Formats: sequence, C-alpha cells, structure tokens
Amino acid sequence: MTSPPVLVLNSGSSSVKYRLFGGDEKRGTVERIGEPGGVPDHATALRQIADEVGLADLDLRAVGHRVVHGGTRFRAPTVVDDEVLAALKELSPLAPLHNPGNVTGIEVARALRPDVPHVAVFDTAFHATLPEYAATYALDREVAAEHGIRRYGFHGTSHRYVAARTAELLGRPVTRLNTIVLHLGNGASATAVAGGRSVDTSMGFTPLEGLVMGTRPGDVDPGALVYLAARGLDSTTVDTLLQKRSGLKGLTGDNDLREVLARRAAGDPAATLAFDVYCYRIRKYVGAYHAVLGRLDAIAFTAGVGEHSAEVRAGALDGLAMWGIEVDPARNAGHAPVISPDGARVSVCVVPTDEERAIAEETLALLEES
Ligand code: ADP
Repeated sequence: MTSPPVLVLNSGSSSVKYRLFGGDEKRGTVERIGEPGGVPDHATALRQIADEVGLADLDLRAVGHRVVHGGTRFRAPTVVDDEVLAALKELSPLAPLHNPGNVTGIEVARALRPDVPHVAVFDTAFHATLPEYAATYALDREVAAEHGIRRYGFHGTSHRYVAARTAELLGRPVTRLNTIVLHLGNGASATAVAGGRSVDTSMGFTPLEGLVMGTRPGDVDPGALVYLAARGLDSTTVDTLLQKRSGLKGLTGDNDLREVLARRAAGDPAATLAFDVYCYRIRKYVGAYHAVLGRLDAIAFTAGVGEHSAEVRAGALDGLAMWGIEVDPARNAGHAPVISPDGARVSVCVVPTDEERAIAEETLALLEES
C-alpha cells in the first residue's frame, strides 16, 4: 500500500535533512550550515532542498516538520498556522540551538507551499505524559515557574516509534508492555515507557541531562558549574564546555564511539575509562527505570551506538542477570533483533529508529483524524 506523499524536513543546528515518502522516496542532507565550506544559513539550505526535490511542483499531501521544543503548550503534532508559528518563535529561547532552524524550515516551506498543511512534530511531545513528580525539579517554585524550568525530555519521536516497534517485534500490544528505550546516538537518552506512555526520561530542561553523549556530559553536579562560574568562566564558555567539549570528546578527544572503541582495544587508558563511564551511566538509568516501571518486559537499544555497538550493549547491561536482564553473546554479535537468551524475563532488543518515517506517520495520522 502506498501512502500519500509527505515531505519531512528535519532542520538541526548545523544541518537540514529531508525525506520524501510515498511514491519515489527521495532523501538528502545539507550539512555544515554556517560553517566554512558550507551554506551560510538555514534559509539557503532550505531553498537548496526545495530546488532539489522540486518542492514548488510536487504532488504533496503535507509537509512534516521536526520541532525540537514544544514547551508546555504543544503536547501533540500540530498543524501550523500564523498563530502557532508565532508561538513557536516564542519558544526559541528554550532551545536556542534548534528551534530557530526548525522555525526557518517552516517559514520557507510554507511560503513555497501554502496550499498544503504543514505539521509540526515535537521532540518533547511524547514526554508530556510524565507525572508531575517526574517532571518537577526541587527548585524554588516561583523561580522555576517564572522561567519555565521543568523537565521536558527530548528524542520523543524516536522513543515513541521504537517502543511501538519493540512491541510489534515481540508480538505484544504496546499498551501492555513496559519498556526501557535507550536512544544512543550523538545525543543519548533513556526513556521508561509504561504501556506506550513515557513516564520518565533522562533528558530534562535541556538535552544536556542524563546519559553520557558524544560531546555532552549528561548528569553533572550543578554545583561544579556554579564553582566554575565563581572561578571566572563566563556562561558562553561553560555552555561550550557542556555542549561541545564534554562526553566522549571531553574524556578522550574523540566524540565518535568507533574511535573510542578502537583505542580501547589497543589498550588506551583514557578510552577504556570513557567506555566504562559511558556504560556505567546507562546501567544506572536501567536500574532506576526498572524501579520506576516495576515490571520490566523489554529493553530496546536504538540509534547509531545502540544499533551498532555490541560492546556497549553488553557493557551497559553487564551484571544485571539477577533481574532477568541478560545478553546472549552470539545473538549480540550477530544481527539478531532479540539479543537476550530464550526464556529471559526481560527481552533485550535492537530496534532501528527512523525519526523521519515517524514524523511522516505522525503527520498523516493527525490529518486523518481531522
Ligand atoms: P545522531 O544522533 O547525530 O542522529 P546517530 O544516531 O547516527 O547520530 O549516531 C551517531 C553515532 O553512532 C556516531 O557518533 C558513532 O559514535 C556511533 N556509531 C555509528 N556506527 C557505529 C558502530 N558501527 N559502532 C559503534 N558506534 C557507532
């Protein structure tokens, strides 16, 4: 069955990806936006993509746009009109690296194709179901309320998609399955999914909290940052430290896990420690989310590292056999979708994510409803 044609635009901080679904699938990326050798800005990148796909004359049902931050207002995919667009612009300070590019994508595409619906699909939306006690930081209530400081969570489109595909893989309804989804890419996050709903997730107010990432540290004592500020590091320097100079990159000089693994295999102590810190952090979240979920049915690994690194999958779940969490070495080394032994209490799965496909599906689902 072919679905109606949908163009998905995913404007990141320094790249724009596009994918056309339905009929002839087309895809591409414009990279290094605003960097030497790249295009100057998002608007130029989007116009280039519009030319490449022939956007002006394309037979289209809709355009689906990835938007990183939906704040507290946007809890589900939303058709963009002028009022929604203005609200998205107001959210930009919450996600300064991402939302402005997302908004530019919507503006350029709407100008070229005002005749089709444009749907914003939010990274935060899946986590709108977090209970208040999981979304609340124990900060002064007035300060938190005034500045909108709470846990939002990110990678939601991927977590929702992978939780659903895991249920399909195991032949169980998603509404009856409790799953921990481990999205391990350049950015990384863990989500506790109870019966298809997100009940806790490791990224918080920003995508910095939680797991160790390519260039971000995940959890750090906020007191360390206050200390650095008191020692004279300004907020831009601290921001760069947290966004670009931490995580695997900070510990080893390499943000690509493949390099870290090769150096670890050669006996490099910094790479060995980085791998251990990376896996240990995942294990702590698995333990925490097992407690959150009570009964745990499945653990799903996804994104670049989760889909491809058997060493990380084994390292992260090492020593959890007493909870029924085990990885079969032969299955893990092969390309098996289920890597736990037969009869294990918890099914450990490798489930490829596909954020663009998920955005296309959510876009069409919204339009079919209305
Ligand atoms: P993004 O978060 O940018 O979408 P991906 O999900 O593609 O990124 O993940 C990118 C990361 O996946 C790379 O930085 C690399 O560390 C890791 N990765 C990709 N392939 C492998 C592999 N075969 N083994 C280990 N790590 C891998």
